[in-house]
Amino acid sequence: MSELPVGLDIPDNPDLSSAGPVPVVAVVGRPNVGKSTLVNRIIGRRQAVVEDVPGVTRDRVPYDAQWNGRRFTVVDTGGWEPDARDRAAAIAAQAEIAVQTADVVVFVVDVTVGATDVDEAAVKMLRRSHKPVILVANKADNQNLEMEAVSLWSLGLGEPHPISALHGRSSGDLLDDILAALPEPPLIVEDGPRGPRRVALVGRPNVGKSSLLNKLSKEERAVVDSAAGTTVDPVDSLVEMDGEIWQFVDTAGLRKRVNQASGTEYYASLRTAGAVEAAEVAVVLLDAGEVISEQDQRVLTQVVEAGRALVIAFNKWDLVDADRRFYLDKEIDRELKRIPWAVRVNISAKTGRAVDKLAPAIRKALASWEQRIPTGALNQWLTALTQATPHPVRGGRAPRILFATQAGVAPPRFVLFTTGPLDAGYLRFIERKLREEFGFEGSPIELSVKPRK
Ligand code: GDP
Ligand code: GDP
Repeated sequence: MSELPVGLDIPDNPDLSSAGPVPVVAVVGRPNVGKSTLVNRIIGRRQAVVEDVPGVTRDRVPYDAQWNGRRFTVVDTGGWEPDARDRAAAIAAQAEIAVQTADVVVFVVDVTVGATDVDEAAVKMLRRSHKPVILVANKADNQNLEMEAVSLWSLGLGEPHPISALHGRSSGDLLDDILAALPEPPLIVEDGPRGPRRVALVGRPNVGKSSLLNKLSKEERAVVDSAAGTTVDPVDSLVEMDGEIWQFVDTAGLRKRVNQASGTEYYASLRTAGAVEAAEVAVVLLDAGEVISEQDQRVLTQVVEAGRALVIAFNKWDLVDADRRFYLDKEIDRELKRIPWAVRVNISAKTGRAVDKLAPAIRKALASWEQRIPTGALNQWLTALTQATPHPVRGGRAPRILFATQAGVAPPRFVLFTTGPLDAGYLRFIERKLREEFGFEGSPIELSVKPRK
């Protein structure tokens, strides 16, 4: 992955839920009521550097935030004013878009001023959106001002939350209430301390799967049947590679060499599907001495469609001479062009050549599979990209991408919030550029589009 600006990264926190979409909270209100101050308070100022980056609009900037182990995205909006003109109108329009794409809206009012006509107009806009709204009475720096907040019941948005964004007064309570208003998180099964990484060794018959497994079990230290603290399915094998124990799933068939006997391709593909499903990463063996066949392609497709990390091992490299090498390179360009991101290694299960390259290749693929791009960095990059190369015009208009978040990992999933559906070609362009910028070598990535309703 390329270098990210310092200060944009969130520290890894194993307690954070990694599955499911990251909910979006939009902060709206008149200019100067303290929205930015509140957003900075919520994100702990960790990522506020985004504002200084040229090319990024200050108007609608998303940030990663977390509270009590939950991640969410906060969208800071410029001041909302009805009947605004020119730039102010554009900012107001952005705020409305932010409201439409949000799961929860935080509406900020300045308690030292009270509800103004502009606030009342904003409330009408919020009502139309049918989004849950949390009313914040900001600048309640002391108890007297806190009492003033009562007057904001008149806005008809429920209980006002008096806080002081500047001093942090009651901001924890506010975050609790924001979290409570977010959509239910998907149930995350905490799997405690992680066991060995699960690897599927797959490929069509005769590519050398059982030879490789035997080689790995022999060269590296013997396979342990019950490593301390791990429970391993009897059909799996534990193999030590490069100082780490790996769980090769569903290898019983390989060891007994029944795979050739039990014949039909249908059963072979069922077996592959089962192993891939049980694994985090698949090592797909191809026979470097033979042309890449349709059956090879089907195995690769199974891995990609299951969303697993992918390492392609060209086995039998001992049989590859200069001639074959030349044709193989051409074949790779042609046959593997839909998965240029796969990690590739050239090995020989027979001689042991480069078998020690497998573990680093698998590690790299898994790291990509679990990579998370901070929302700030993602959107800085995306803004620059879409400004340089906007979506082509369709029927007189070009759909715009408003912002993006990474909804999950394993594999990485991204959601693009847009003003309309995107062309498949443009989506592919974005994926290609995303990989150029952030890597993801060895992992499929998913992009989905959420057009604004
Ligand atoms: P925005 O335009 O809504 O984003 O407002 P800002 O966050 O830029 O804040 C506008 C002004 O209000 C700044 O001078 C802040 O320091 C001030 N401010 C923000 N929150 C508070 C607060 O809780 N108490 C007080 N006294 N001032 C605040
Ligand atoms: P599987 O069906 O994928 O498990 O493949 P096997 O491990 O049974 O191997 C099929 C054949 O390929 C056997 O005759 C192996 O000896 C041979 N083989 C496996 N790996 C290599 C290799 O790296 N080089 C060469 N030359 N032959 C290999």
